[in-house]
Amino acid sequence: MSTQIQNVSSHHGSSSSSLSQHPPSNHQPLSRYESQKRRDWNTFGQYLKNQSPPVALSQCNFNHVLDFLRYLDQFGKTKVHLHGCIFFGQPTPPAPCACPLRQAWGSLDALIGRLRAAYEEHGGSPETNPFGGGAIRVYLREVKECQAKARGIPYKKKKKKRNTIIKGTQSAKDIEQQAS
Ligand SMILES: [Zn+2]
Repeated sequence: MSTQIQNVSSHHGSSSSSLSQHPPSNHQPLSRYESQKRRDWNTFGQYLKNQSPPVALSQCNFNHVLDFLRYLDQFGKTKVHLHGCIFFGQPTPPAPCACPLRQAWGSLDALIGRLRAAYEEHGGSPETNPFGGGAIRVYLREVKECQAKARGIPYKKKKKKRNTIIKGTQSAKDIEQQAS
């Protein structure tokens, strides 16, 4: 009789799976609109402070707002052809040109909407809201028409570019199978 020594190598790997699970955040972050509004409001406040002499918010009128909108154009990314440009009116010019980049009308329109709301949230009265004046509406309409002509884009309907569905349904299926 031979005693068999059973080499029981019960090496239980006690690996406590330390999956780094992100705990659900309880504090609700600001919505995109709200955080954008806050940023816009700070930018505008900074702009007023940088004027010489600095402009107090209580003294701010529509002229400051118009200047602010023109000031923002230098950071714009929308090509707006000048009247002398050979691509004037072409929605998709075949070559680059020296025409300036501007803030797109839609961006300015949305910006004014946010600042108008922010002004009143910060205690400004709707009657004196410099963002709600007729001069701003006229300016925005002019920008809209000018950009519509210069770029040849009708503003009635915005083209929705949502047809970016990748056609590789097979590879998508493969990934799904691997995942399950
Ligand atoms: Zn041009």
